[in-house]
Amino acid sequence: NAALIDGKSMAEEIRSGISDEVRRMNTSIGKVPGLAVILVGERKDSQTYVRNKIKACEDVGIMSVMTELADNCAEDEVLNAVLSLNDNPSVHGILVQLPLPHHMDEEKILNAVSLDKDVDGFHPVNMGNLAMRGRMPLFIPCTPKGCIELLIRSGVEITRKKAVVIGRSNIVGLPTSLLLQRHHATVTTVHPFTKNPEEITRDADIVVSAAGVANLVRGSWIKPGAVVIDVGTNPVEDPNNEHGYSLTGDVCFEEAVTVASAITPVPGGVGPMTIAMLLSNTLDSAKRAYRFT
Ligand code: NAD
Repeated sequence: NAALIDGKSMAEEIRSGISDEVRRMNTSIGKVPGLAVILVGERKDSQTYVRNKIKACEDVGIMSVMTELADNCAEDEVLNAVLSLNDNPSVHGILVQLPLPHHMDEEKILNAVSLDKDVDGFHPVNMGNLAMRGRMPLFIPCTPKGCIELLIRSGVEITRKKAVVIGRSNIVGLPTSLLLQRHHATVTTVHPFTKNPEEITRDADIVVSAAGVANLVRGSWIKPGAVVIDVGTNPVEDPNNEHGYSLTGDVCFEEAVTVASAITPVPGGVGPMTIAMLLSNTLDSAKRAYRFT
């Protein structure tokens, strides 16, 4: 059976390092990193994600501020919140929880986030720099960065490997493909127009799935010995769960675990790593702002 890639304990290790760094910063210059989170509307899943992020900040000593706006607020209110946080010197990271309500122009709002506070890495300039050779973005999106970190910490060689990324969203699939290329993998993207996704995926040494479709990737899609990173977190009905549903990945775990050499569980794989990378980006941003090394 495949080795389990334990994102939870890897993330704990990273968080403990961040906590040390925050303490060192506080002791030597009397400052701590600050993260601002903007939440618009009342989506339960968004509320949970935001709560987890704020709790994670508290645990490592990062200051957090939360701006909550109503579902039906004007786009300008969100923009103004972003602009005032841009000007706030004790805020080093600004995170706009997505998705925004339909009447808002997501791109316009993400564009307004100051480039050097874009800890999610979603600003088009940061994304562009991620895509262009010879350039370095100020921030790399957290989930893709977390996937790479999981591979590196598991001792998986990326250079020269064939990688397949399933999904091509701006927040996960696309930046993950770009990052894997930066790490010198040969990358193929699988998306809804791909012919023979199963066959293409079976050619890969590294599979990252971020399609958002429960049990899309069956055991037969995996090459024996491949490494599988499952980003998907899909709600499926579960009468045994108090909420009536539980979260499952894109990968049919019971099948894939018998074929792969290593695999992430859902939950406990990519999720905790995403939050650790957010904290890490926020710390880096504060260090940059205070020129603290
Ligand atoms: P999304 O819906 O924006 O994008 C999904 C992508 O997959 C799209 O490019 C879509 O075209 C593609 N796709 C859909 N069905 C497909 C199929 N059958 N075959 C191939 N490609 C297909 O979602 P997202 O924001 O990129 O997130 C993807 C998944 O990852 C979701 O389950 C989400 O909940 C999860 N997620 C997890 C974390 C985490 O920290 N663990 C973070 C972000 C997203």
